[in-house]
Amino acid sequence: MVRFPDPPDPLDEAFPLGDGTADGAAFAACPYCGELCEIVLDPGGGTHQEYVEDCPVCCRPWRVSATWTGSQATVTLATEDE
Ligand SMILES: [Zn+2]
Repeated sequence: MVRFPDPPDPLDEAFPLGDGTADGAAFAACPYCGELCEIVLDPGGGTHQEYVEDCPVCCRPWRVSATWTGSQATVTLATEDE
């Protein structure tokens, strides 16, 4: 019996990084206290994401900017009032 491959899932095509091979976390230094923190990412949310998250060390709000190049995530943290 011949098995045909499953047809492509339209959701996977819209968010090709959501397949589990892309970086799910990255390290970046807090722009307020300078502490190196692990930023947990959601690769399935798109190749470029910006959102606000609080620093777990000093509790001040970061503007997180995450970009994926292939499966490699780049994260930059900025102060909210920059
Ligand atoms: Zn901090």
